[in-house]
Amino acid sequence: MSLAELRKLTKLHLLDQSIREIRARAAALDGGKRILAQIDKIKQDNAEILADAHRLSAEQKDLELQSEGIDAKLKKFEGELYGGKIVNSREIQNVEKEIEALKRQRGHFDERLLELMELVPAAREQAKHVEEALAQKDVQLAEYRVKAAEARTQLEAEFKKRMEMRPKLVAEIDPSLYAKYDHIRQKHGGVGLAIVDGRACGACGTQVPTRVIVAAQEGKVVLCEACHRLLVATEGVV
Ligand SMILES: [Zn+2]
Repeated sequence: MSLAELRKLTKLHLLDQSIREIRARAAALDGGKRILAQIDKIKQDNAEILADAHRLSAEQKDLELQSEGIDAKLKKFEGELYGGKIVNSREIQNVEKEIEALKRQRGHFDERLLELMELVPAAREQAKHVEEALAQKDVQLAEYRVKAAEARTQLEAEFKKRMEMRPKLVAEIDPSLYAKYDHIRQKHGGVGLAIVDGRACGACGTQVPTRVIVAAQEGKVVLCEACHRLLVATEGVV
């Protein structure tokens, strides 16, 4: 094999490397998983605050409704009592008892409503901070997704371009050398060739013996003893 052949193979290797990088970058576009996890964490960490605000607001609304119901009943009973509708003394007594009971209940509700007038705004204020943090994350997520979609489109275009270039490069390479490269590539995680960097194998970092580097410089087909990739040496040996 000649050095020129190895150079052609190196071109293909660099193309394959960039294809692998594009694949890795596409795989790293996670659909916003990281931000979604952050959103979940905010919700979990502040579950009590959010639940409190919700519960207290609901209680306030419920008591207000019930109070309105009591007021309506009171109005009705008082109307009956003072409207002269009821004249029977026992009936009057019964209605008076009802009115008293309703007023007591109304009193309890008012006490709690007074407490809630302080509790609800405080709880809402706390919840507001959490909700704002969540809203911010939602914006971040939407932005990420737009950017990720753009990046994906771009990566797909780059991938397509490189895949179209590949057969042309393959056709220029000696078939037996390509077969060897492809075999190693399939076997060793998609990397079939290593460029010697200084004295080290560019793929695994192992020091390459001088005689091997010299052989590689002469255009011989040599493999890294550690990671079994085809070695290409373009620089001189120190
Ligand atoms: Zn190696």
